Amino acid sequence: MDKIVFATNNEHKLREIRAIIHDGTEVLSLADIGCHADIPETADTLEGNALIKAHFVYDNYGYDCFADDTGLEVEALDGAPGVHTARYAGDNQDSQANMRKLLQEMKGKDNRNARFRTAIALLQGGEEHLFSGEVSGTITTEPLGNKGFGYDPVFIPEDTGLTFAQLGEDVKNHISHRARAVAKLTEFLNK
Ligand code: IMP
Repeated sequence: MDKIVFATNNEHKLREIRAIIHDGTEVLSLADIGCHADIPETADTLEGNALIKAHFVYDNYGYDCFADDTGLEVEALDGAPGVHTARYAGDNQDSQANMRKLLQEMKGKDNRNARFRTAIALLQGGEEHLFSGEVSGTITTEPLGNKGFGYDPVFIPEDTGLTFAQLGEDVKNHISHRARAVAKLTEFLNK
């Protein structure tokens, strides 16, 4: 079986990706290869951060590797939190704090349009490849639902009427920003 590292230890993401990627490929996490480094994400674009993570694994461990970086881009906030999505409420804050800050910033805003965008960087045989996927939607006025992770309770993907946290993994795996980026990645890997 082919082995490829997904430069993450996020169990939700690993489960999502393993459900989507084809059977002949084993997806290893950072923990699976003994990498416990906190890889700095210092770029000012999603693609830049994904490349930093993929290079870290490829250069230090020699595995083909892909890495993702996701941003939530809110129209009324001029694209924020964007590349700062993970640390929107500060360095040591959790998803609850991030969502609280977002809902606070969105108080009184009529335009609640937003999109999730995922960039994936693949390093295969030393060559870089970039993929991206996005899903448009709106920001709620309060958290709804208890499935998923991150900002899932405050994001309603278009044409669904429910938040990602209400829709659950099965639906999300078909329509999410990451699913769309991973579909492009897997199409490429399957060629
Ligand atoms: P990362 O680049 O995947 O680490 O994600 C950056 C930020 O976006 C983190 O705060 C995540 O919680 C959030 N995030 C990433 N993907 C999703 C998602 O599918 N749903 C909700 N939040 C997400």
